[in-house]
Amino acid sequence: MITDDFSALPQSRLLTTAIPGPRSQALHTERMQHVTSGFGTTLPVFIQRAEGGILLDVDGNRIIDFASGIAVTSVGASNPHVRARVAAQLENFTHTCFMVTEYESFTAVCKWLNENTPGDFDKRTALFSTGAEAVENAIKVARSATGRSKILVFDDAYHGRSLLTMAMTAKENPYKLGFGPFPAEVVKAPMAAPLRWPSGAANATAEALAGVEAVLAEHGAETFAAMVIEPIQGEGGFVVPAAGFLSGLRALATKHGIVFVLDEIQAGMGRTGTLFASEHEGVVGDLIITAKALAGGLPLSAVTGRTELMNSVHAGGLGGTYAGNPLACAAALGVFEAFADGSMLAGARRIEASAREVLEPLLTETSCVAEVRGRGAMLAIEFADAGTLAPRADLAKAVAVACHAQGLLVLICGTFSNVIRLLPPLVITPELLEDGLTVLKAAVLDVAATLAAPALV
Ligand SMILES: *Cc1c(COP(=O)(O)O)cnc(C)c1O
Repeated sequence: MITDDFSALPQSRLLTTAIPGPRSQALHTERMQHVTSGFGTTLPVFIQRAEGGILLDVDGNRIIDFASGIAVTSVGASNPHVRARVAAQLENFTHTCFMVTEYESFTAVCKWLNENTPGDFDKRTALFSTGAEAVENAIKVARSATGRSKILVFDDAYHGRSLLTMAMTAKENPYKLGFGPFPAEVVKAPMAAPLRWPSGAANATAEALAGVEAVLAEHGAETFAAMVIEPIQGEGGFVVPAAGFLSGLRALATKHGIVFVLDEIQAGMGRTGTLFASEHEGVVGDLIITAKALAGGLPLSAVTGRTELMNSVHAGGLGGTYAGNPLACAAALGVFEAFADGSMLAGARRIEASAREVLEPLLTETSCVAEVRGRGAMLAIEFADAGTLAPRADLAKAVAVACHAQGLLVLICGTFSNVIRLLPPLVITPELLEDGLTVLKAAVLDVAATLAAPALV
């Protein structure tokens, strides 16, 4: 039900109890009696409403949302376009299964993606439910089209939690630990990560590309179906590849007849200030994968790409019971509406400008902030010892804990868990953003003053 009360959720931070409050604590205790402990929780707070940049918890605390449910609710957790479209669809039907009978919204979502993803060529799209499912299906398409089997992935990559996508993901704990053996034919190559490149950031692109060529030569370039890369790494630490790396990979893929797949699941759909993060480098994928922010929180993912690839699969070879569910397609059409006036992309750029202004001085004001990086509303602070760059997960953790206590939700990422990442909704108000950044900066300065002496190992 759309009520005035709902849309009037005040866009300001408010602490009524400690975080988590007593009601959240009681609900968390109950949860632990019924829900698998295999799910981790960043902040054990139960949410009753969310709107714009605010999460309202069951104790009445208003928490600033710098997470967007991991880059999902970019247009806000209760965007009016999304709510109206989903509510209308709900009155008609919830499901038919697109493989059984058809509905127009599925086609409309595919058409929008074909028209708005980079690449001036004829495209087709397939819809699924989760990001991992879309990655798996991009591999199915690439293998079917090329008749080859191997998959090239990159250091610190994250592509999901299903069996194949775990194999494509770099970090063992928590994603892969104890879950093997994994599918074969997944090969890892160097990623041009500027901060820690051994011979310096200026050499990262050339040396990483040479490394990729060596890996391809060793494993036989002609045996690779696909090369899959995130244009900005998500879970791996919000690493922006050194300039020229993505276009270098694009050229290598073309040279060897390898399908070039961009995993834009986290960085895409406006997050970085352009509709797709690969646009910053002018790089075009043969296939591009979207999910997360695509449908504003309803489960929807997509593989979009060259018609000759997407149509190379035999009829019936792709699908899924819930693939492109009508409620999720309606939500995506609401998201597209929200993007139509340009305010979302402008929001991402505004967030970057404000955040850099507040956070970049930390590079000189402290000795433990190694880098402030990212694009648009996908920004990160990496904590490491000066000089040695020894990762400081303890500092990232301490900053996150301090922010959470103050009613600001931030997430940690990175192979070494030493990166605080910022993913605010693109609709966050300037005042709320400023408040959140002030809390974050104070937490970093506080932690730097008390804990930042080099870690004793
Ligand atoms: C989240 C994510 C995935 C997996 O998406 P799910 O919907 O969780 O399966 C894959 N790739 C990237 C880059 C992601 O950020």
